[in-house]
Amino acid sequence: MQLKDPQLLRQQAYIDGQWLDADSGQTIAVNNPATGEIIGHVPKMGRAETRRAIEAAEKALPAWRALTAKERANKLRRWFELLMENQDDLGRLMTLEQGKPLAEAKGEIAYAASFIEWFAEEAKRVYGDVIPGHQPDKRLIVIKQPIGVTAAITPWNFPAAMITRKAGPALAAGCTMVIKPASQTPFSALALVELAERAGIPKGVLSVVTGSAGEVGGELTSNPIVRKLSFTGSTEIGRQLMAECAQDIKKVSLELGGNAPFIVFDDADLDAAVEGALISKYRNNGQTCVCANRIYVQDAVYDAFAEKLIAAVGKLKIGNGLEDGTTTGPLIDSKAVAKVQEHIEDAVGKGAKLALGGKPHALGGTFFEPTILLDVPKTAAVAKEETFGPLAPLFRFKDEAEVIAMANDTEFGLASYFYARDLGRVFRVAEALEYGMVGINTGLISNEVAPFGGVKASGLGREGSKYGIEDYLEIKYMCLGGI
Ligand code: ADP
Repeated sequence: MQLKDPQLLRQQAYIDGQWLDADSGQTIAVNNPATGEIIGHVPKMGRAETRRAIEAAEKALPAWRALTAKERANKLRRWFELLMENQDDLGRLMTLEQGKPLAEAKGEIAYAASFIEWFAEEAKRVYGDVIPGHQPDKRLIVIKQPIGVTAAITPWNFPAAMITRKAGPALAAGCTMVIKPASQTPFSALALVELAERAGIPKGVLSVVTGSAGEVGGELTSNPIVRKLSFTGSTEIGRQLMAECAQDIKKVSLELGGNAPFIVFDDADLDAAVEGALISKYRNNGQTCVCANRIYVQDAVYDAFAEKLIAAVGKLKIGNGLEDGTTTGPLIDSKAVAKVQEHIEDAVGKGAKLALGGKPHALGGTFFEPTILLDVPKTAAVAKEETFGPLAPLFRFKDEAEVIAMANDTEFGLASYFYARDLGRVFRVAEALEYGMVGINTGLISNEVAPFGGVKASGLGREGSKYGIEDYLEIKYMCLGGI
């Protein structure tokens, strides 16, 4: 596997500071999506092991929450440094299990680490309030306290960052956490906790349970010790987990599906718009919840934009992410390939024109040709559903009102993007888009200092930024009388 530090490939789960197999001895094989080869195995754990991790998190909570913010921050800072010192190995591990190009994987490690660094700093800024009393003898004080034991369920598309932007604020706030990573990409999660242990995060504070989604997830949502669940994944599963958490009114943070519009107005800088579309659409091979899903181009610049986009996408180099120069890896699995094909067939059947790609790549496996469809009708499935793959459908529009109506005509509201230079238009459109995030003249919006999250069926809560830690805190109001 060629890691500088072979200890970073862990094939056991990490519970209460111990590396463990499943009670049943069962395992799950992890594939390299670029080659189909098995990289290794992780334990297939269930309810009993998850319960033990939750109980360990409960036991570890009093001492962890009693540390000063600075003491917790110092340990998180050390974890951040270890992530960066091991960036090469962590990136390689990620490319092997996830398929994204090595440069992108290493970029994700830096991005993942930035959440630990940021929340190490934010740990020290959990301020309360003193409110002027409503009666002469009263003094009102507000403090913020950690919620307690928390749980995270994370997806395979960002195997490291989706964990750190939950674990970072949780640990900074003084919470403990049990994580269930996606079964396609558990090695990144296990390497992260190996480094957390080396950074001095005490046992039980952070555990990773690999295994059956239904069983591990079911225990995390039904165990009353868990006070909060943070989930990133599909809207369908998010809805189910939220319903499960309703039983004992757990707090939930949900980062769910998107259906991002990417709008190019006639006053846009077209080269910049093409560059933005390339990043927003094809990064991680289209497998991010903020990927452009629908590209709307105004009549006057439609042909010019399409021509430039086709030329740029034609230069992408598809291949194994470990090979030099690869810009685009495979899709995660055959289900993902089927979804892209289904959207292409549906749109073409309804009159769209195929301008580039359109079929599985000659490399075989789950490699797919970057695809562009022109003149896609509003009725196409891709106008409503997230493709999560390398398909760019171009729709035409006439004016601002029409495109805003089309962009908002979806149950989702995560990321949106538009390119325009007229200042009045920039504000009008940004304010009218029903989305949690708007990229204006940029295709890349995610970073640790900004609030990431959606509205409508795209979720609840925000991750990153000064707001991200709030999701792990409870407000306590103290009313002092007789003064
Ligand atoms: P994706 O389509 O990105 O795989 P999912 O929502 O299916 O999105 O998966 C995201 C995470 O949710 C993964 O860790 C997966 O194992 C987990 N998951 C899937 N189904 C369930 C479930 N019924 N209960 C708990 N977790 C689940």
